[in-house]
Amino acid sequence: MSNIVAIVGRPNVGKSTFFNRLTETRDAIVEETAGVTRDRHYGKSEWNGRKFSIIDTGGYVVNSDDIFEEEIRKQAILAMNESDLILFIVDVETGITDMDQAIANILRRTKKTVLLVVNKVDNSSRMMDGSEFYNLGLGELYMISSINGSGTGDLLDVVVENLKEDTPEEDEDIPRFAVVGRPNVGKSSFINALIGEDRNIVTDIAGTTRDTINTRYNKFGHDFILVDTAGLRKKAKVNENIEFYSVMRSVRAIETADICMLMLDATRGIEAQDLAVLSLILKNNKGLIVLVNKWDLIEKNTQTMKEFTDELHQRMAPFTDVPILFVSALTKQRIFKALEIAMEVFKNKSQKITTSVLNDIMLKEVEKHEPPSTKGKFIKIKYITQLPTSVPSFAFFCNLPQYIKDPYKRYLENRMREHFDFHGVPIRLFFRKK
Ligand code: GDP
Ligand code: GDP
Repeated sequence: MSNIVAIVGRPNVGKSTFFNRLTETRDAIVEETAGVTRDRHYGKSEWNGRKFSIIDTGGYVVNSDDIFEEEIRKQAILAMNESDLILFIVDVETGITDMDQAIANILRRTKKTVLLVVNKVDNSSRMMDGSEFYNLGLGELYMISSINGSGTGDLLDVVVENLKEDTPEEDEDIPRFAVVGRPNVGKSSFINALIGEDRNIVTDIAGTTRDTINTRYNKFGHDFILVDTAGLRKKAKVNENIEFYSVMRSVRAIETADICMLMLDATRGIEAQDLAVLSLILKNNKGLIVLVNKWDLIEKNTQTMKEFTDELHQRMAPFTDVPILFVSALTKQRIFKALEIAMEVFKNKSQKITTSVLNDIMLKEVEKHEPPSTKGKFIKIKYITQLPTSVPSFAFFCNLPQYIKDPYKRYLENRMREHFDFHGVPIRLFFRKK
């Protein structure tokens, strides 16, 4: 499990500019696959060989020019609880503001590492101005310019020095499930309905992760680990900015899990906040099943499920090869089925396809529909092999990989999904030169 770095700070200090600088190169690699949802606030970064996740907390703030101090305060607290290291960004152009002061007051209380980053130090003459931020009482200053990159290397050196050891996941072959979604969709009700009061705990896997509790269960003939964040069962009393809360609360659970059960509220349908969590799941290449909860509250006719499914597919496109279940934590309708399906998705995600089977089937599909030639050049796919990664990934070796465009990648992905069962599983196709 990797570390989570949170970027906090008031609006306009340059958080998103800094975030983009950190995630750009890596995203370019990860998003080689067609159709991966771009997320401007959550990404992966790497420095000196250390990988970590990074969240721009400000990215989830709407109407960020007249944001309330109270809201910023709550966000700083949540960021503090849910991350491993905090980058507090301030702006040398404005100097210390009341809101900076308020955030500093909160961050001073945490035991986690907080690095105070003075941004917009574009040239050495601004360094003098920067030193006023020592008055915030957060120790060392890191002066950077997110625009021209100066100082960011030194800052990242300090960031990775302060990261904790990545803990390897134990019990690789036991599936890890996480139930994620907005507050009040019914996650805790679902978990309680599934596990019940007679918690049949096999082992408490203590100390494997920091703020995450992984409990191993053996129920209904299945052996599985339920990933729970410390905050998951706590009642979230928030009305504003649900997207931010949903995302922050889910990040660690999603990163730790193999399969995510994304829970929706049938009475609300799928909303922007749900899509934010969905994009987080896909970005981490996790298996997915969608649970539409509170199905008992819906007035139904023969078309209701189909209509619901169609709408979900529309919103989730292009990743629609996903199991959708209509459940009720209250009446327990289909909740065991949800577990069964999650097990199946885990199996799909773990499957290994031999090179010969892969080539037999997929080269025929390539023959049926060759990649369109570009600039008069013919593109020839020669062979395909599955890579030894935990996420099903396939390398297509060809003469001119750079000329294979998204529509053709989607064609291949769709054929892969027809021939092999990747229901609920994001797959990655890479095109390599041979
Ligand atoms: P956020 O609201 O904290 O995410 O801030 P943004 O990243 O949107 O940046 C706010 C403004 O500051 C934008 O106009 C950026 O171009 C500018 N900005 C960001 N970083 C720097 C920097 O290092 N130097 C200068 N001069 N401007 C910057
Ligand atoms: P969480 O915040 O996602 O963990 O949601 P909770 O499990 O706390 O549920 C929020 C509210 O929805 C509670 O009042 C539950 O009783 C109610 N609820 C949860 N699942 C269902 C369901 O399947 N049907 C109905 N009618 N209500 C539900």
